[in-house]
Amino acid sequence: MSDYQHIVIAVDLSHESEVVVSRATQLSPPKLTLVHVIEPLTFAYGGDIPMDLSEVQLQLQNQAKDKLHELAQKFSIPEEDCIVVVGQPASEIHRIADDKQCDLIVVGSHGRSGLALLLGSTSNGVLHGANRDVLAVRVHPSE
Ligand code: AMP
Repeated sequence: MSDYQHIVIAVDLSHESEVVVSRATQLSPPKLTLVHVIEPLTFAYGGDIPMDLSEVQLQLQNQAKDKLHELAQKFSIPEEDCIVVVGQPASEIHRIADDKQCDLIVVGSHGRSGLALLLGSTSNGVLHGANRDVLAVRVHPSE
C-alpha cells in the first residue's frame, strides 16, 4: 500500500486505459477518481460547420459515460467516482485534481523511444502544470 490518499486517474478510453487504471489500483489508495475529458466539438471545428453541434456533443458525452462506467466496473470503482467533463484535457484534469485535493494524478505514456515521444501531448500537459505527483504509466502500443 502506498501513502497516496486520493488518486485521480485520467483515461482517454482507448484500449490502453485498462493498463493505466490497473497500475493505479495496485497502489491501493483509499480513494480513486476516474476522469475522462471530451474536447468540445466547437473547439475542433470552430465556426466551420454551420450547424448546431449540441446534440452530437451530448451523444458523445453519454457514450463516454457508458464506456467509463464499464471500465470502472472492471476495477470495482463506484459510478459516483467517475467524472466526464467537456473541456481541454490537461487543464480539466488539473482542475479536478485540485477540486478533489488528490495527491497523485495517473496518466498513460507511450513506450516509444526518445524522450520527446515518451509523453503524448496530454500527459505532457498534465506533468508540466502539476502541483502534485504525476505517475506516467508506460503503455506499449500493442497493449
Ligand atoms: P496522450 O498524451 O494524448 O497521448 O495521452 C496520454 C494519456 O493522457 C492517456 O493515456 C490518458 O491517461 C491521458 N489522456 C489523454 N486524453 C485524455 C482525455 N481526453 N481525458 C482524460 N485523460 C486523457
